[in-house]
Amino acid sequence: MQLDCHSVWNNCLRYIKASTSEQSFRTWFMPIVPLKLVDQVLTIQVPSQFFYEWLEEHYVHLLRGAIDQVLGKEGRLEYSVIVDQGSATSQPYTVNYPEKNTSKQNGTAASNYRQNGSNFSTPQQEASAPAKPHDPQLNPNYTFDTFVEGDCNRLGRSAGYAVAQKPGVTSFNPLMVYGGVGLGKTHLVQAIGNEIKRDLPDRRIYYVSSEKFTNQFIEALRNNRVQDFSNFFLEMDVLILDDVQFLANKEKTQEIFFHIFNHLHQSGKQIIMTSDCPPRDLRGLQERLLSRFKWGLTADLQQPDLETRIAIIQKKMQADGIDIPDDVIEYLAYSVDTNIRELEGVIISLIAHASLNRREIDLELAKQCLKHIVSDIETEVGVDFIQKTVSEFFNISLDDMKAKTRKKEIVIARQVAMYFCKEYTNHSLKSIGFHFGGRDHSTVIHAVQSVNDMVTIDSKMKNAVESLKKKLRVRVTV
Ligand code: ADP
Ligand code: MG
Repeated sequence: MQLDCHSVWNNCLRYIKASTSEQSFRTWFMPIVPLKLVDQVLTIQVPSQFFYEWLEEHYVHLLRGAIDQVLGKEGRLEYSVIVDQGSATSQPYTVNYPEKNTSKQNGTAASNYRQNGSNFSTPQQEASAPAKPHDPQLNPNYTFDTFVEGDCNRLGRSAGYAVAQKPGVTSFNPLMVYGGVGLGKTHLVQAIGNEIKRDLPDRRIYYVSSEKFTNQFIEALRNNRVQDFSNFFLEMDVLILDDVQFLANKEKTQEIFFHIFNHLHQSGKQIIMTSDCPPRDLRGLQERLLSRFKWGLTADLQQPDLETRIAIIQKKMQADGIDIPDDVIEYLAYSVDTNIRELEGVIISLIAHASLNRREIDLELAKQCLKHIVSDIETEVGVDFIQKTVSEFFNISLDDMKAKTRKKEIVIARQVAMYFCKEYTNHSLKSIGFHFGGRDHSTVIHAVQSVNDMVTIDSKMKNAVESLKKKLRVRVTV
């Protein structure tokens, strides 16, 4: 049966849709137009250079998976990129990737795309093929230069920098960096790796996520190559293990890591780890491992403040050669205060909107864009989330929120939470009252009125409500 490019692409889309979020699917895949299918080569048209690069960087595996599934291993993908010259009179023209004859070397779509199989080289393979240069698996963009310093990360950054100057020699061994998602752990530990790689090129460095470490280990077990697996790690001068919380309850993996850890540490090799919580809260990790994590230095990364968020965006945009007006940057940094990754997600989505609609990036577009994202989220804000956020904010217990207590600060917190439930959820007054320890609807009405009154006369209260608004509203998932 002869397949045409549209049905092939539709099948690819079905595969992609199942493996990615609705938002990414809409932003990055719906705008693609299939152009032709010749000799198992599918050509797709994408709206801009930026769009193409974004797909290449973030979705190459997904696209490969789709093509493999639909066209088989022989299938290939080519891009046709619309280049907008930015003036009303000149017509957009197209550029094709990979360019003919150069596809082997130029690192563009199809070349990366076909070579990707080799990116998955396991340590076993590397160990058994010593002629192949060792790949430390570092992302060159994650450097100290691109890492913005702020109060939120000063200790981690300086410790990391010290380790990078003298790996294995400082007392920061192991160095354990912890903090919530998207606060820069991976960036920081990779920066250490990149710095060492640059200044001490003979050192063997290896960055690996705990998930990949586990998978490599399982693979080694299956192939009876556990010895090769350990040997590979024991040869490292610097081992960076990201997200160790992932090792929780994986007894065998922890055991081998314990062995590797001890050996490296005794030989004065540097170990760097990250985790999403302080070591004392790591559940499901063996005590003997945890006690070793405390031998060196533990540093946390906190939420960046507004100025740091602004500086981070400015730096990123500068590095990407993208010009976003200052007022837009400030607006975004102000509105999204959860973490940097979310902030970046919002900016990417903004750039994508601008690029797709051929519009300037300005405050109005930013607002529209954020509203669109935020409104997706608002529906998710439920009574539980409001009660939890508000009680944390006022530092009272969740039980007090629902209890009979009439202590002033508890009453205020309770009223504020009721107010937000009325504002942000579809619950009836009766249902809201019910969620607050079975109070009746008139109590809720009274609470809403009190809060409205308080914010007009009490500036502290006004600020509290403003901060809470942001906390409740902006739970952006892009
Ligand atoms: P984590 O590993 O803690 O989840 P990442 O290191 O992946 O977070 O960081 C998320 C994004 O935020 C990355 O793109 C990273 O470059 C950026 N980022 C975080 N902190 C900073 C910082 N201080 N300076 C510059 N970029 C940062
Ligand atoms: Mg990370």
